[in-house]
Amino acid sequence: MADIIQLLPDHVANQIAAGEVVQRPASVVKELLENAIDAGSDSIKLIIKDAGKTLVQVIDNGKGMSTTDARLSFERHATSKIRNAEDLFQLHTKGFRGEALASIAAIAHVELKTKQPHDDVGNTIVMEGSKVTSQDVVVTPQGTSVSVKNLFFNIPARRNFLKSDNVELRHIIDEFHRVALAHPGIGFVFYNNGNEAFNLPISNYRQRIVNIFGTKTNEKLVPVEEETEVLKISGFVGKPEFAKKTRGEQYFFVNDRFIKSAYLNHAIASAYDGLLKNGTHASYFLNLTVDPQTIDINIHPTKTEIKFDDEHTLYAILRSAVKHSLGQFNIAPVLDFER
Ligand code: ADP
Ligand code: MG
Repeated sequence: MADIIQLLPDHVANQIAAGEVVQRPASVVKELLENAIDAGSDSIKLIIKDAGKTLVQVIDNGKGMSTTDARLSFERHATSKIRNAEDLFQLHTKGFRGEALASIAAIAHVELKTKQPHDDVGNTIVMEGSKVTSQDVVVTPQGTSVSVKNLFFNIPARRNFLKSDNVELRHIIDEFHRVALAHPGIGFVFYNNGNEAFNLPISNYRQRIVNIFGTKTNEKLVPVEEETEVLKISGFVGKPEFAKKTRGEQYFFVNDRFIKSAYLNHAIASAYDGLLKNGTHASYFLNLTVDPQTIDINIHPTKTEIKFDDEHTLYAILRSAVKHSLGQFNIAPVLDFER
């Protein structure tokens, strides 16, 4: 029998990886913003056209890349963020998989401009479907600009599967909120179709929340602070009277990364025990800091889920910290006659 197994060419492998990493324009926004943060930027600009279907651009003032690194950044499994498997458990960066730029370049037109602080000129690289179409020196400010145009240009099925501009923009705004909330120490500006949608100056956490969700939010926030050996909690929960029918403003960050956790969400809901009207949900903006050794982030390509070593302990600490904060604010249970 003839041998039938073949190694897939890189551009095919990249396109397959892209299927996991890039679901929609908002995924590109997330990956580019995270790279800008990992580069140590304190000012980041996000530019969107047509809900990201024609353009997603992120411009940062971070450390930039050398000529060689600029080219390597588009290779799969190429990363400056980890060196070995042990590093996965002491992560201080958002990225580590080294596949975002390779994936994005496999399914879009990408233009990179980047310059390191000590260089006079920078580098530009244009990629189309995993191929370099031009590479040159360029005059550009310190930092990196990545433009992603015509997403899914070579995968019509994915392109057709995209939702309306309104829906895709909503996803982008959600991603932007998550990243901006996790990093109040970074200034963000967001232009949507040429209009300034958000301008968030460097600030503290409370101000960042208020700048995003409006001045009225300020009076709704109850501070939560707790520090134990295994978990540090800092942030805010919403006063019960402001609870809403939708689950909109519920944010957990673990080591500065937005995380979805039904289990920890339940810890909070149960801390509100008796304080919420049936069918309503309190807002929360909580930063959890844990030893990176006690979590595994590498369980999903988009890194929005985490495996905690000891979820039960975190649940108990979180629940009691939130309960304590709500109690301090003398919030009495509501008498809910509808129940
Ligand atoms: P990862 O972030 O997982 O390392 P990416 O594909 O997102 O993988 O990026 C590959 C590499 O390119 C990064 O490790 C980093 O060295 C470099 N890079 C990407 N974006 C930027 C940026 N905005 N500024 C500086 N370096 C960047
Ligand atoms: Mg990355």
